[in-house]
Amino acid sequence: MGMSDSRRPKVLIVSTGGTIASRYDPVGRAMTSTATGDQLLAALGDLAPSTELTLDEFSNLGSNRIDLDMSFRLARHIAVRMEEDAVCGCVVTHGTDTLEESAFLASLVISSGKPVVFTGAQRGIDASDADGPRNLADAIRVAASPSARDLGVLVVFGGRILSATDATKVNTWHLDGYGSTSFGTLGEVDGEMVLIGRRPMMCPAVNARDIETRVDLITLAMGADARLFDAAVASGARGIVLETFGRGNATPELVAAVRRATNAGIFTVVTSRCAQGRVLPVYDDGGGRDLEDAGALFAGRLKGPKARILLCLALSHLPRSKIVDLLMTFGM
Ligand code: ASP
Repeated sequence: MGMSDSRRPKVLIVSTGGTIASRYDPVGRAMTSTATGDQLLAALGDLAPSTELTLDEFSNLGSNRIDLDMSFRLARHIAVRMEEDAVCGCVVTHGTDTLEESAFLASLVISSGKPVVFTGAQRGIDASDADGPRNLADAIRVAASPSARDLGVLVVFGGRILSATDATKVNTWHLDGYGSTSFGTLGEVDGEMVLIGRRPMMCPAVNARDIETRVDLITLAMGADARLFDAAVASGARGIVLETFGRGNATPELVAAVRRATNAGIFTVVTSRCAQGRVLPVYDDGGGRDLEDAGALFAGRLKGPKARILLCLALSHLPRSKIVDLLMTFGM
């Protein structure tokens, strides 16, 4: 690692907090995100790649505290920094709880071909077997690698390289805590080698100048009625993402509620509560075909939290027809 030679392009490290920067308080009751960006880099020790680095401390928060406005500001900050010739790539250290949402939001906002890589950790910075340093070292290697250009925003975790479009937290504590909801890993980091096995399907850029935050996510459970959906509408939601059953099915009560919302100009987007697979309007009697007839849009292979991010960005500036087009690009 070096911070000295001002002529060599640098990898920008943007620290935001999370377990990778967390340690127990003095009485050992709870972990808090307190380590500075410099301390994160110092923790790399012998794992530090020889890449030149530059550091922006964006925040120091658990990612349960990162909201849509902050995540949008983070993406815009990275987009601006990626325009600098002196910066060849970026690593964002982020809590794993909502890393997948910030990474996806960034992938929709940043159009630079330079690698932008999100990483985090399952164990705190002071743990004797901390995974943060290895994940950070891997992410720096990917961000500095020419083979990682033009792959969209990436997530590097537990040696895997994933696309931000389908990266998701698959385990609450395992070291390989991130996986893919659709097409699998893009590649791996094996020691010093960055190995890219396939290219991701690229997402379109959404040139949003702002983000709409009044979009709710509701997961259906057996026998779901319309109370939560109606409460979201009554509280001023401009859009509602439903995590429906299986291929994209709900209940007749919800279909009726979706129709009322559509007539009131509120968007409903259908995703599945299944871990993998696309939604399609197939069934009647409260199923996806009825939801579509009631005006709901289908999010293809996007999972609920990501469909919500997309809708939040789209609602800030796009008309309905363009939002339909945008969602269709995720139908594959
Ligand atoms: N609570 C942490 C966070 O998301 C969890 C983690 O980073 O793994 O900030």
